[in-house]
Amino acid sequence: MDAPLAIDVSGLNKHFGNRHVVKNLALQVREGEIFGFLGPNGSGKTTSIRLLCGLLTPDNGQGMCLGLDVIKDSARIKPQVGYMTQRFSLWDDLSIEENLDFVARMFGVTDRRQTVTHTLEELGLTSRRRQLAGALSGGWKQRLALASCLLHRPKLLLLDEPTAGVDPKARRDFWEEIHRLSASGVTVLVSTHYMDEAERCHRLAYISYGQLLASGTAEEVVSSLHLNTWEISGHKLHGLAGKLRQLPGIEMVASFGATLHVSGRNAELLQDILERTLAGSGLHMRPIPPSLEDAFIHLMQDDQDQYGSPPGNSPPPRRSCEGGGNRLDSRLRGNDGRYGE
Ligand code: ADP
Repeated sequence: MDAPLAIDVSGLNKHFGNRHVVKNLALQVREGEIFGFLGPNGSGKTTSIRLLCGLLTPDNGQGMCLGLDVIKDSARIKPQVGYMTQRFSLWDDLSIEENLDFVARMFGVTDRRQTVTHTLEELGLTSRRRQLAGALSGGWKQRLALASCLLHRPKLLLLDEPTAGVDPKARRDFWEEIHRLSASGVTVLVSTHYMDEAERCHRLAYISYGQLLASGTAEEVVSSLHLNTWEISGHKLHGLAGKLRQLPGIEMVASFGATLHVSGRNAELLQDILERTLAGSGLHMRPIPPSLEDAFIHLMQDDQDQYGSPPGNSPPPRRSCEGGGNRLDSRLRGNDGRYGE
């Protein structure tokens, strides 16, 4: 049986001045679910997450969070929420233990000593408890930040790009922790640019400039885009991306290691154009299932187009997305630098 809904909202809107930052957001998240938000910087992920749990008041709309009305009962929702912001906001000149003790006081935790000891153990921080926070590596700082969000036993955890700049091993450990919390019934909303993190979420939403464009499991998001993808491999790939992007039927070209991924929605046209272009080149092409990364690069490319061309222009130019790393924004920024704000 499905877990009950922790969040069930519809028609949420938010303006900052004349900027319409969240547009008609409707979303359901189940208890214990890890729900990821992806999208370009400034597209409204953080604002959406804050609206969903009463930390910001929407201009209009309705819904429930943890069984309470997101508009009328926001003051009762907030104490049940743990919020890990992007920036480390604890005290560098206090030890891990002192930081947790201080936060526990702020939250008015009653069995403070016991709670701090328990949280240190739970997060594997006991042996380091006397180290100054300022002397910790990025991974341990982030673990401490997570510990401080958990002291008051929140039912809902908001993680705003929690592992930006953290090495892969620390990232993996952090996600093990998130899954442990989820298994214990804590609902987690997380914004991220990392593909490996997106794949670790139970469900995802892609937000583009205030609009939720796709949501569901990773498989559902990928299949909803109806992309056809071919992998091209061989020796003379250099320069090919630029050529391919000029051709009809090709909507995305992205470098993946020593190969190119080429995608489009018109399967026949795509195959035909690729076969004709690559004939006699010695390059190999084979159809592959589009990955989540292919899907998100495709969505982000549309974001760029939306902002890059004046209204009424048609159709927007196609672009390839080259570059390394698994941060989606870095792939696109490497391309023409126009992504984001
Ligand atoms: P994301 O999390 O996707 O990067 P945000 O939700 O933080 O996006 O921001 C969306 C837009 O709203 C941005 O243009 C940002 O500058 C603006 N914004 C966010 N918070 C505020 C605020 N408190 N006051 C005014 N503008 C804001």
